[in-house]
Amino acid sequence: MKQHLWIDGKTIETNSYYELKSPYSGENLAEVSLAEAEHVQLAILAAERAFIKWKEAPAYFRAEILENVVSLLKQQKEECARIIAKEAAKPIKTARAEVERTIMTYLFAAQEARRIHGETIPLDAAPGGENRVTYTIREPIGVIAAITPFNFPMNLVAHKVGPALAAGNTVVLKPASQTPLSAYKMAELFHEAGLPSGVLNVVTGSGQIVGDVVMKNDRIKMITFTGSPSVGKYIKENAGLKRVTLELGSNSALIIDEKTKIDAIIPRVVTGAFSFQGQVCISIQRIYVHQSLFQSFVEAFVQETEKLKIGDPLDEETDLSAMISKMDVKRAKSWVEEAVANGAKVAYGSQAGARMMKPTILLNVPREEKISCQEAFAPVVHVNSFEQFEDAIDEVNNSDFGLQAGVYTSNLPHAFQAIKQLNVGGVMINDIPTFRVDHMPYGGVKLSGMGREGIKYAIEEMTEVKLVSFKL
Ligand code: NAP
Repeated sequence: MKQHLWIDGKTIETNSYYELKSPYSGENLAEVSLAEAEHVQLAILAAERAFIKWKEAPAYFRAEILENVVSLLKQQKEECARIIAKEAAKPIKTARAEVERTIMTYLFAAQEARRIHGETIPLDAAPGGENRVTYTIREPIGVIAAITPFNFPMNLVAHKVGPALAAGNTVVLKPASQTPLSAYKMAELFHEAGLPSGVLNVVTGSGQIVGDVVMKNDRIKMITFTGSPSVGKYIKENAGLKRVTLELGSNSALIIDEKTKIDAIIPRVVTGAFSFQGQVCISIQRIYVHQSLFQSFVEAFVQETEKLKIGDPLDEETDLSAMISKMDVKRAKSWVEEAVANGAKVAYGSQAGARMMKPTILLNVPREEKISCQEAFAPVVHVNSFEQFEDAIDEVNNSDFGLQAGVYTSNLPHAFQAIKQLNVGGVMINDIPTFRVDHMPYGGVKLSGMGREGIKYAIEEMTEVKLVSFKL
């Protein structure tokens, strides 16, 4: 199968194509277009032309298109899940859950499209402001470049395309090279849903080539990026005066306070640590357990982890499959080995083949080890113990990242202490840091990024406030 670019409502052939291979089997899945700079310019021009009409489209019309996409997604759930499973090696059960979330994300976008509004402002609160009716309106900002990662190839596209279109913007989308098919599928569904040509354009190819064109082109008014901190930083430094939102990585932590009922939380902790091979931006990477529970927690955690099945992403039984690349397996394995050489103990796993890694639980990892302080993005988690609650909070905060943190505690003052002191974008009390539903404000501090997603919040980032003052 050949997958061409999608620009201005048409497929566009390119001079070269790359082979998209399954991360699990290495089989060829498709030949995918490699965009050159001129294709990206073409997509930007198409988006700019389409913006003239799309920004004037009434809210109900924009909402209806998004609702049509929701219906089409519901009809084609299984096909979508299989695309994700194949190109990302996401276990089919997890891929189905991603499609369900994508449906919710577009549904929220449709709902928000109908209620984008400003506010009235009493200007007479200041002397000289009398006799005016004053209000704000939110206007779309124009062409938005959306750059997405491999790990949620459908739902993270939805988190950018949904709010952008709901607000009346047009989009040039650049999906990750390993997961282009989910993005092209979405473009197909939007076309079928009646989206006018040019409102959504998809270009694939080198992130560097597409990114550089997008960063230099003044027609692009905003770059919304989800991916690694290094690329995010590069974009921020080169985007000039464009608006930029960055959803980046983390080494998310979970605190388990004394008196927590271990049995009740274990299945959830296993899911948070190993779902999609730990390649989730809010995957549990560090667990700090009160010393009174350390032994019993580790035993129960290992026991539950042993039940996980590793295999073909399309197999109904599979819990974990291949990591996104062989290079990532090697990297994660070497970080584990380094930690073990420096005193960490393996409680479970640590073995890896060329493409897959066994879920791995390490104990007592020194905080300066890469597997603790950098983003692992692999099925590896470490468990350390703490004596004082303050110390656990210090450990969580002692990180370059700050996306979300989880705290299990039945001690109310501890819960409020954590809420106040944890330096992260979201604190989940009595849950894992991996918790997310798609309308909540979501984003990080420090190297985890800037700006918020979650449809309503993304729309705030993707619109400009205009002030209207009407003198009576
Ligand atoms: P990545 O390597 O940074 O790639 C993300 C996207 O950026 C891809 O489309 C990539 O294209 C593109 N890109 C690469 N170089 C670029 C450049 N110079 N200019 C512009 N774009 C460029 O990240 P990934 O490996 O796909 O995803 C994993 C990362 O995403 C992790 O760090 C994870 O934590 C983070 N993430 C964060 C969130 C969040 O919401 N905070 C959610 C999910 C994932 P190519 O694929 O063609 O290189």
